[in-house]
Amino acid sequence: MTLTGKNAIITGSTSGIGLAIARTLAQQGCNIMLNGMGEKSMIDGLVSEFPKTYNNKTVYSGADMSKPAEIKQMVTDCAAQLGSIDILVNNAGIQFTAPTEEFPDDKWDAIIAINLSASFHSTKAAIPIMRKQNFGRIINIASVHGLVASTHKAAYVAAKHGIVGLTKVVALETAETNITVNAICPAWVHTPLVQKQIEDKAKEQNISIEEATAKLLGEKQPNKRFVKPENIAALIIFLCGENGNAMTGEILTIDGGWTAQ
Ligand code: NAD
Repeated sequence: MTLTGKNAIITGSTSGIGLAIARTLAQQGCNIMLNGMGEKSMIDGLVSEFPKTYNNKTVYSGADMSKPAEIKQMVTDCAAQLGSIDILVNNAGIQFTAPTEEFPDDKWDAIIAINLSASFHSTKAAIPIMRKQNFGRIINIASVHGLVASTHKAAYVAAKHGIVGLTKVVALETAETNITVNAICPAWVHTPLVQKQIEDKAKEQNISIEEATAKLLGEKQPNKRFVKPENIAALIIFLCGENGNAMTGEILTIDGGWTAQ
């Protein structure tokens, strides 16, 4: 266990990549503040299961990442309930696809709020606490779409490019402290967020889910295999550990060759 006793918030950790990150950090000895949407019984189940599985302290914040006041409160609650905030993983995210001229305004606003502005608000609230204790690890889950574009994803690509920029700015501002700020840019990971895109593709093209999955991977990802959530979580463990201390402002791809093309 390399991170025993560190306190971590992972936004959007009731599902997919965020949940895998939370499990891996807990396995390494971190206390965890979970966050995200979902059925109350599922969330209560996670909050009671984590301490039994990982022998840690686990709490939950229902903060809505589209609401700045709730995000600020989440950070305050983490410091109060766990004792501090050492690790902040900005992971919550949503997707919506449509050509730009048809892209609904409210979907644009929601994606920018949840996928970009939320990370600004949580970082702004966490930095003073991290400066005071002279330790902090901020990891922003961006995407290959923080580096390159795809059609029909105006809001998502804009938000992910934005979070890459935010990562670099905050890294520079904290460079002389023991706080590091990095972004991870994964390619396709098989989570509910991507399952919906596979199902939409199958429906649109009248093909099977298997064919749609192969098409989705084949279009852009040279290794044609999904990135596993655990691959991302393992990189986060490295960044949070002793040997990650010289890496800041890094934009790290885990993309099966996507951006090598
Ligand atoms: P997911 O849908 O499985 O999980 C998203 C999480 O965000 C859930 O816990 C959900 O409850 C939470 N969330 C959504 N809206 C929220 C809100 N308003 N307030 C609080 N929580 C909210 O998706 P995922 O694939 O695990 O995505 C996680 C992150 O990884 C996202 O930022 C996504 O853009 C990024 N990403 C995903 C992929 C992929 O292929 N799945 C690739 C690159 C980057």
